[in-house]
Formats: sequence, C-alpha cells, structure tokens
Amino acid sequence: MDLLLAIDGCVAACTPDNPAHADTTAAIGRCLDQGGRVWLYAGTAQGYEDGIRRALEDEANCSAAESAAMQAQQLARHRLAAFTQGKQWLAALAGDCADCAAPNPAQDRLLRALQRFTAGSVKVLTLDPGFIGEHPDQTLTPAAYLALPTSKRRIDFIDLPGQQSFIRPQLEERIHRVLHHGHYILGPEIEELEVHLAQYTGAAHCVAVASGTDALLIGLMAFGIGPGDEVITTPFTFVATAEVICLVGARPVFVDVEADTCNIDPDKIEGAISPRTKAIMPVSLYGQPADMDDINAIAETYRIPVIEDAAQSFGAIYRGRRSGNLSTIGATSFFPSKPLGCYGDGGAIFTNDAGLALAMQELRVHGQERRYVHTRIGVGGRMDTLQCAVLLAKLDRFDQELARRIVVGQRYSQLLAGTPGIKTPVTRADRTCVFAQYTLQVAGRDALAAALSARGIPTAIHYPIPLNAQPAYENLCCPDCTPVAAQLAASVISLPMHGDLTDADQDAITAAVIECNLSLIQVDADSRNTTTG
Ligand SMILES: *Cc1c(COP(=O)(O)O)cnc(C)c1O
Repeated sequence: MDLLLAIDGCVAACTPDNPAHADTTAAIGRCLDQGGRVWLYAGTAQGYEDGIRRALEDEANCSAAESAAMQAQQLARHRLAAFTQGKQWLAALAGDCADCAAPNPAQDRLLRALQRFTAGSVKVLTLDPGFIGEHPDQTLTPAAYLALPTSKRRIDFIDLPGQQSFIRPQLEERIHRVLHHGHYILGPEIEELEVHLAQYTGAAHCVAVASGTDALLIGLMAFGIGPGDEVITTPFTFVATAEVICLVGARPVFVDVEADTCNIDPDKIEGAISPRTKAIMPVSLYGQPADMDDINAIAETYRIPVIEDAAQSFGAIYRGRRSGNLSTIGATSFFPSKPLGCYGDGGAIFTNDAGLALAMQELRVHGQERRYVHTRIGVGGRMDTLQCAVLLAKLDRFDQELARRIVVGQRYSQLLAGTPGIKTPVTRADRTCVFAQYTLQVAGRDALAAALSARGIPTAIHYPIPLNAQPAYENLCCPDCTPVAAQLAASVISLPMHGDLTDADQDAITAAVIECNLSLIQVDADSRNTTTG
C-alpha cells in the first residue's frame, strides 16, 4: 500500500519534536522498504510548508520575533525540500478543486486526488481523528499503518510504475502540453520524435506509426508485396511478423533458427529462396540483432529487400550500427513492455531510402499524397500525438535504462553460469543485446515456471508455440521442418527483466531459479531410479 501525506502527516515527519514524529518516520520508512511509494500532493505544497513553519515557530516559541519567523520560514522550506527526496509529487488536477466551498477544502481535494488510484492501494496518512472518523476507509494513522502485517516486497516481470516514478514530471508536462495544443493527430510531437529517433538510429528517415505490427505491414506495402509473393521469416517470433505477410496476401516461408541466439539461421535462408521470394524479414529476437550482414549479402545476391523486425531490439548495436538501421527497412514497436515503450500502441519504421520513406509516410495516412488525393491504397496507421509525448518524456532516461538492461542481463548470466540443465542466452561478440527478454533454455521448463510462480517470481514463455504449429498458420509449413524452433518452444523461459531491477531482487530470483532447478533435477533423477530399480 502507498501512502499519501496529509499536511499533518508531513509536518510530523519533518519536525522531530512532534509527538507522532517517530511513528510517522517509521511508517514512511516501512512503506518505502516494501517497495511502496510515499506521495505528497502538489495541490497542498504551500500547506506543507506553512504547516512545518508554524510547528517550528511553536517549537521556538518565537512567532513574535520577525527575524525568527523569517528563519522558521527558511528552515521550513529546507526541511520540506529535503523531505521530498525519494517521495513522489502527486499532480493537482482541475477536478480536485471541484468544490472550493467544501467544509474542509484541503481534505476534499486530497480525497478527490485519492480517487485516481485503485481503491485501497493508497491511503491518506494523517493524525486527525476527525478526518479518520469521517473517512475510515481512505485514511489511517502512522500507528495504524505500523500495526498492519508487513508485506513482502513484490518482484515484477517488468516495472513500468517504477520507471514512471523517475519521469513523472516530464510525462505530465508532455501529456498536458498535448491537451492544451490539441493537435491529437500528427501533432508537433510526431516530427520531434521522428527527428530524434532517426538521429538515434542513424537512419536518414523515421516514420512514426500506430504499432509495431503496422510498421511491418507498411514496410511490406511500400515494396508492393502481395498475392503470389513469398517472404522468408522465422517461425520463432511473435505472431505479428508472419501475420502481416499474410495480410498483404503473400506467403510466409519459415526458415529455422540458430539454437543459441534463437534468431533466423542465415545458412538456411538461401535454400528457401524461390523466384517468388520478394523479401527477407529477420527478427532481432529478445533484443539481439540477427546476423544482418549475412542476411543482407544473400538479399543483395537475389536483389530483394530486407525488413528487420526490430520490435524487441530498439537500441541494440550491431557492428557499430543501431538496430532498425541495419537493412533496407527496420520496423520497431513501442508496445508498453518493449525496451522503449509508450502507454498504448506505437511503432516506427526506419530507412535510408527517400522514396521508400515517402511511400511509407503516405501509406500510414490512407495512401494520401495530399489532402483527399489517394495515390496508393494505404491504412489508418498514424501514431497518435499523446503516445509520442509519452515516448519523448522517456527518451532522456532511455540510454541509462538500456545500459542497465545490459548490465542486468549479463549479471543474470554470471549468476546462473554453470547451473546444470540451464542454458543462459548467448550474445555474439559483434553486437549488443538489449534484453527485451532475458530468456533461458531449460529442460523442465513448465515445472520450473510453476515452482518459481509458487515463490512469487513471475516468468513468461516467449514463445510456447512456433508459428508453423499455430492453428492459423500450420498449413504453411510443417513444424518438423524447423526442429530447432520446435525444441526452443518447449524449453524457453523468460525471467523478470527491466532497467530498475535491483541487485537484491536479482539475487533472490537467481537463488530461487537455482534451488527450484536443483530440486526438479533431483525429482527427475529419483523417478528415473524408481522406474529402473
Ligand atoms: C511486439 C512485437 C511485434 C508487434 O508490435 P506491436 O507494437 O505489438 O504491434 C512484432 N514483432 C515482434 C517480434 C514483437 O515482439
């Protein structure tokens, strides 16, 4: 549970002479220790400062002396400034002030602000018996909070709220700017983002679109790929990769993957090329670029384009170049859980070809060349301005998060190195992996997932069924044709991964993996002994 501080709660925390100081400090400390957040309401910032100042004046009993009062004010400001470290400011929104004539306007605003949270997930910390008496479900005293049973720190698979707490001011400012300028579609943020991302990847052009799926689809449409055509891709990916090929009327041709990187095996591509092959669509799975130069070389021989599905690898570097800018076209996704994610759907396409860039810009707005003149058959695939605003707010911290992801991924591999029955992911020397997923290969995958779940450690399977074994796609090529993908689908398991994963949480996760794995190996050996003996 998070805490939202009423004025008296904040004053008690900031003034050691207050009789409730010790309890309040302990309650706030415990909340933070358990991974909770302590909120200060921006609408009452002046109230906090005034409350602390009055308490200091009372303490010194010097409210009469003007210089002492000045000092109390300075001191109050400094105490509040120091106290805000590690706390969150909760925005004051227009609706909070709906009833300025309420019997107690300050409490009324605080309660209205509280309604933004899921019921019961945040309570107002106050010492006011009257406030608590009237709103027992929304409020509690520090002593009452301390009397609650302590809850175990939760481990999340990805921690978007944690990330949000670092960038809340930028997010709110960016989002509110859009609310005020009102250009919800193709607003100024779109171009700002496109310029920034093009620079970031080194590509000459970036086209922001409605999703990663639309990025891939528009990429295929830009080449005019359609019925009768074939596109070579991997069966070991998220379904969108093959789906878009089918949506334009072409046929995905599945080529098996490498057992260690799980990316498409370039040595198997040439054997799958036919006169109908119109593109190769490798996926940079889990955040590691595929063998793009090998793939580009094959594509060049056959004069076909390469579309990199970089949905999971934005930010990764391959031989000095960024993923997304490694082939004719690169397509990425800003789905919330991707390395760079917005708060809805979003995606982007990159290219160095001006003609393709123009085609993709037009295709994303219904093939429109200029207003109401449609020279191509396109889609409604624009990215919306609010999602762009979210991404722009995230960009300042992105490099730091990316660096942390890589450290966390490498640390996982160190901690798990040599564990029997567990293969840690392999990153080739000429590239980085941004660990969209940190994915192990284990023998008793489902049992391990269940054992970890029982210990409160979330895991996920990316992906349990290769696309050529999916009901909608199985007529395309038999799963037996891609045995490595089939084997991976039965053995992969992804561990919690995000840039803010602490060493302590990671230690707890790897300890649990090693312990669960060991007992599973034991059970396995025992049952074999029983059957043979
Ligand atoms: C997420 C993802 C997509 C689709 O992106 P959306 O933004 O969800 O449409 C495509 N390919 C891969 C490999 C993905 O991981």
